[in-house]
Amino acid sequence: ISLDESTLALGATHAILDAYAVRAQFPILRSKAHGRPLVYLDSAASTQQPEAVIAAVGDYHRQHHANIHRGVYQLSQTATRMYEDARLTVARFLNAAEPAECLFTRGATESINLVASTWGAANLKPGDEIILSTLEHHSNIVPWQMVAHATGARIKVIPIDDAGEILLDEYRRLLSPRTRLVAVNQVSNALGTVNPVSEIIAEAHAAGALALIDGAQWVAHGVTDVQALDADFYVFSGHKLYGPTGIGVLYGKRHLLDAMPPYQGGGDMIERVTFEETTYAPLPSKYEAGTPNIAGAVGLAAAIAWVESLGLARIGAHEQTLLRHATERLSAIHGLEIKGTARRKSGVVSWVLVDPPIATLDVGAQLDLRGICIRTGHHCCQPLMDRLGVASTARASLGVYNTLEDIDRLAGAVADIVDHAR
Ligand code: PLP
Repeated sequence: ISLDESTLALGATHAILDAYAVRAQFPILRSKAHGRPLVYLDSAASTQQPEAVIAAVGDYHRQHHANIHRGVYQLSQTATRMYEDARLTVARFLNAAEPAECLFTRGATESINLVASTWGAANLKPGDEIILSTLEHHSNIVPWQMVAHATGARIKVIPIDDAGEILLDEYRRLLSPRTRLVAVNQVSNALGTVNPVSEIIAEAHAAGALALIDGAQWVAHGVTDVQALDADFYVFSGHKLYGPTGIGVLYGKRHLLDAMPPYQGGGDMIERVTFEETTYAPLPSKYEAGTPNIAGAVGLAAAIAWVESLGLARIGAHEQTLLRHATERLSAIHGLEIKGTARRKSGVVSWVLVDPPIATLDVGAQLDLRGICIRTGHHCCQPLMDRLGVASTARASLGVYNTLEDIDRLAGAVADIVDHAR
């Protein structure tokens, strides 16, 4: 399919997204790798940042930086307002009931660790169960294992089918009065499977359990509404949403965050400290000890404004066009097996080369020489790789700046690598 055909098809339901105009807003995408124009297909690991985000962070550093919350002078008050405005932006973005339910963290990993170590430590007892899925990233496995070891709770795992879809009947069988929490991702970073999280949450609630959704791979690709989902906790990272690294979000329902013990102790999270006793600040400060990543929050807010200006539905539709094209082109290559063929997928294509067998690391290295950035390895999903019977896959993951040309260059290069190995 040509760019024109696909954009025309898209135009029927969405205003056309001009990926070339979007791409031009990303300075790094004008650079070269090994002398070749860069084809960036690793957005699931980290998205690149548009000029609007880079400028917002630069502007903050150049004109507005000071420590927040404690200064009476104007500069500190401006920085405080920018940080708290960023929280408002996040709350609107997630459709949280109130900004205080949106906590800034270092990223999805820290958000999950926060819930595991505070809610988990306070609420889990021997025999309690936490349900995860086979599709989880290590960051949604290891924190639960750590708290399970500490409390005597047990982890149960929802199996998947060969396409990479969660088996909902098996999930229902795992739920019981012992289930305290279900923690699953909305989109699998390794396969792109989009999970039926509304249903998963509703079933968890029916069983009397809470649900945490790892939205790291969703928020840049579709609209998020934590209230419509009825998620108890929702986490994501800024750097997978065209924002900076080192900033992320934990959304939690107020009554849960109010009841949980604090995560870290220190400045800003207190109301009153004596050597005998400390009382804690109300939300959100209770969970934000120490000087936060103020510039990161400002950058994240700029990234959210930027994706919203394009429209998440439009971004998602554009990526679906690219995904279809990538799936068609790659699966036409002899000896290439796509891993993850779920009915609902986000812009991720994972594959292995079996005939002739070519190690995924070699594929990645050879693509790199052609200026093409993909990821190879276990994608922080070793239990999933075990289930798939592979040690690693090669993974191309899409962002709003990718074009059909990028996909054609990838597919052409992979076909070339296979031909040379034959
Ligand atoms: N969850 C999923 C599904 C991910 O893909 C990732 C990162 O790849 C994470 C969690 C962890 O995100 P971060 O490393 O930004 O904390």
